[in-house]
Amino acid sequence: MPEEHGSGNRARDAAADVLAHPREIEAVAQLVAGCDSVAVLTGAGISTESGLPDYRGTSGMWRNRRFEELASIRAFTEEPVAFWEFYRMRLAHLRDATPNRGHRALAALERAGHTQPVITQNVDGLHSAAGSDPVEVHGSLTRAECLACGLVFSIEEAERRSAGSPEQVPECDCGAPLKPGVVLFGELLPADAVRRASAIVDTCQAMLVCGSTLAVSPVNGLAAQVAMSERPLAIVNMGATELDRLAEVRVAAALGPVLAGVAASLLGADWDHHDTPRR
Ligand code: ZN
Repeated sequence: MPEEHGSGNRARDAAADVLAHPREIEAVAQLVAGCDSVAVLTGAGISTESGLPDYRGTSGMWRNRRFEELASIRAFTEEPVAFWEFYRMRLAHLRDATPNRGHRALAALERAGHTQPVITQNVDGLHSAAGSDPVEVHGSLTRAECLACGLVFSIEEAERRSAGSPEQVPECDCGAPLKPGVVLFGELLPADAVRRASAIVDTCQAMLVCGSTLAVSPVNGLAAQVAMSERPLAIVNMGATELDRLAEVRVAAALGPVLAGVAASLLGADWDHHDTPRR
């Protein structure tokens, strides 16, 4: 459900958000303000307010197929037509999506030096669109790649190459089928992103988890690593998460209002207008 607002309403909205969750927002803000290095980990929950469904879980069925079954390297190699049909549906959802206040608030906190680059499980590119420099551990749907020769294409180019018919699988110049630049079930995480994420998590003093149930391995291990070493963990997520019992701060509320409130607390009520870097 998109909850975008005209820019004139933003300062007023931020004030309303602080009234709705004052103690939780202040607790997260205090935790962020009290640490030099705060890691941020995000999942699908931060993009639901941009109108993007969470494809996992019970609502994750598409034409009686499970998300985990279609978004797999097996589906890509054995049933590429159905695979690309599923991804064209996802890309259609993505086309109209814009970053919401949660993405913008994290970008503002990152640019102001309060938090480290966002580590995200999301492939929607919305953190980048909001101005963050994210570590995309599950890759990105903004590009496509060839597993045979390594060429990388924009996703628009891949879509053009399959525009002829719904049966058509986009092909590389070398003739091999193109794969969306995301980590499929059955694939390893990109080594570069894993290295960047580990460097952030190894050295952070605290972690803020936003919109993840922390159920997906191995990324949930990053949050567990922080909690097990007795560094504070703050979790903002609508539903229960796997590490709730280890969280120092736990906020069960919509991400956009809470993160906007944190940004307003640390950067001022006009954070969404004047997010000039301080570092
Ligand atoms: Zn190729």
